[in-house]
Amino acid sequence: MVRARTNAANGAPQGGRESTKAYLVGSGIASLAAAAYLIRDGGLLGKNITVFEEGGTAGGSLDGEGAAERGYVIRGGRMFTYEAYTCLFDLLSFIPSLSNPEKSVSDEVYAFNDEIKGHSRARLLRKGKKLDVSSLGLSNRDRLELIELMAAPESMLGARRIQDHFNPSFFKTNFWYMWCTTFAFQPWHSAVECKRYLHRFIQEFPRFATLAGVRRTPYNQYDSIVLPVTRWLEGQGVQFLMNSQVTDLDFKHTQTANVWNASTTCATRPAPSSTWSRVISYSSPTGR
Ligand SMILES: Cc1cc2nc3c(=O)[nH]c(=O)nc-3n(C[C@H](O)[C@H](O)[C@H](O)COP(=O)(O)OP(=O)(O)OC[C@H]3O[C@@H](n4cnc5c(N)ncnc54)[C@H](O)[C@@H]3O)c2cc1C
Repeated sequence: MVRARTNAANGAPQGGRESTKAYLVGSGIASLAAAAYLIRDGGLLGKNITVFEEGGTAGGSLDGEGAAERGYVIRGGRMFTYEAYTCLFDLLSFIPSLSNPEKSVSDEVYAFNDEIKGHSRARLLRKGKKLDVSSLGLSNRDRLELIELMAAPESMLGARRIQDHFNPSFFKTNFWYMWCTTFAFQPWHSAVECKRYLHRFIQEFPRFATLAGVRRTPYNQYDSIVLPVTRWLEGQGVQFLMNSQVTDLDFKHTQTANVWNASTTCATRPAPSSTWSRVISYSSPTGR
């Protein structure tokens, strides 16, 4: 991110936003969201934002490729919830849907989930038989250890694993089987990461057995999220440089007060010989 010079007194940009430029590495949802908010809230001109993507398609992990006739290839389905994904829904609230530009993508997702409700009737199976998951199967000790994990400061948990925190019987409970198959946890994963998920998804506990809180997009997430966001950004003038891998980033202090130069080196694939540099100027409000 390359900022225009700022007014030291209040941090406001000097001379408007026309000269402010932003360069984003990768075209995953993080960069797409950053570009959208730089335009909407930061007042940047879309034409001054460049996204470098080393692959041939935008979206990063939110992949999905194919057609109804020949099938789709998708690495996985990503679940989201209304309660925990408020930032994503805010982003999608100002992106027009591709099927109906009168509606936003978030309205499209709400309407889809109002119509198609998730409700698992066989959350856990053993030897082909459906298990009764009406109880989470937690003992009082398991409950205490869960509360203890949620309350523990991260600095105290350090590099501990989940299995270092719970007694072995915890890993035989319905709760653990549902938890680890929902969020892809293993007992040797980080206790801190597990704690963060407990905080983020505690509201799912009452509907955990049916996954009723898990929301989906009408199509795969590339078609339902990445495509409308990139179309909107392109409409604003954002430049997408595909097959362009950023290989280096240098910062150089110039003699001009408070102005730095940054240069990114970017190799265009599949011909790495066409390496080129771009020089970016920005000022550091702290003078460093
Ligand atoms: C199978 C699967 C299932 C998932 N399930 C869930 C889920 O259920 N719920 C959930 O919330 N999340 C889920 N996730 C995680 C979620 O999809 C990711 O956290 C999120 O999409 C990451 O976005 P990002 O923009 O940070 O990074 P990425 O999506 O990884 O994007 C990074 C982009 O940068 C590009 N890039 C990297 N280096 C360079 C470089 N040097 N130069 C140029 N380009 C570069 C990459 O090609 C890529 O396109 C899942 C992920 C996968 C793969």
